[in-house]
Amino acid sequence: MPDSSMPDSPDSPHSPQSAVRNPPFAITDVHIHIQPFDQLKPAALEVMRKGAGDRLEFLLALMSDPKLLLTVMDEDGIDRVGMVNYPSPDVMGFSEATNDFAARYAEADPRRLLPYGGVDPHTTVNATRSVEHLLEIGTRVLKIHPCHMRVAANAYTEGLTALSDIYKLCEARGLPVMIHTGTSIFPGARSKYGNPMEIDDVAIDFPDLRIIMAHGGRPLYMNEAFFILRRHANVWLDLSGIPPKRLLEYFPRLSELSRKVLWGTDWPSPGVDRMRTNVNQFLALDLGEKLERAVLETNPRAILP
Ligand SMILES: [Zn+2]
Repeated sequence: MPDSSMPDSPDSPHSPQSAVRNPPFAITDVHIHIQPFDQLKPAALEVMRKGAGDRLEFLLALMSDPKLLLTVMDEDGIDRVGMVNYPSPDVMGFSEATNDFAARYAEADPRRLLPYGGVDPHTTVNATRSVEHLLEIGTRVLKIHPCHMRVAANAYTEGLTALSDIYKLCEARGLPVMIHTGTSIFPGARSKYGNPMEIDDVAIDFPDLRIIMAHGGRPLYMNEAFFILRRHANVWLDLSGIPPKRLLEYFPRLSELSRKVLWGTDWPSPGVDRMRTNVNQFLALDLGEKLERAVLETNPRAILP
């Protein structure tokens, strides 16, 4: 939950933080949330409001002001961020307009702000056209959120052709696909779709598709996640949503995945008060400079040049 020492003013959300160590890495956080809150359904907004506590004013300002985000990134020593966005008309309230929101927001600094977008396979009129639009507006990653889109990541095996159209075009055009795994607490979210095993089909059927598995199945499906990550060369692990202090409890054999682990925080979601706090906690695990650099700098750069 939010740190009660946070000041109220949206202009100065952070007090200077004493860094544990100042790593000489150009950190890419591949998973933060900058989203159009004005599109949120009332029930989803209520979850955000409760989680934000006294940060709500700051969050509202952040969602409309990329300069504020860049300031926070400078303070926290974060070079680049991936801004997760996806339509979820039924659960979250986001329409496809959220994709254009992210692209517009990123114009403030296209090198440092990487816009993500999505296509809802249930409601899209033309999945191929929707993916083409994402490519036109500079989307860097396509997000599929099975729990919020109420769809299994492999639902094309049961006839949902819009989903295979999405994967096919992303594979052909080299657009990475991020797939949420694990649970979700938003009202109406279907956590049964959070099982990473569904990604097995996707990785087999679209062998050149680069897949980013968000959250490693936390908190229910870490064994499945680890199996999929080891089995498929093109599946990467995004650490967001996993409290860094407990990372090795969830993934004791993390070092075996060193080539494909990506830094992510889920900031400013409830419980993640700043990006840098998570970096510090990760560094405190003392995993060695080689793995730290791979996770924070070189792996994200490999998938998001
Ligand atoms: Zn997230």
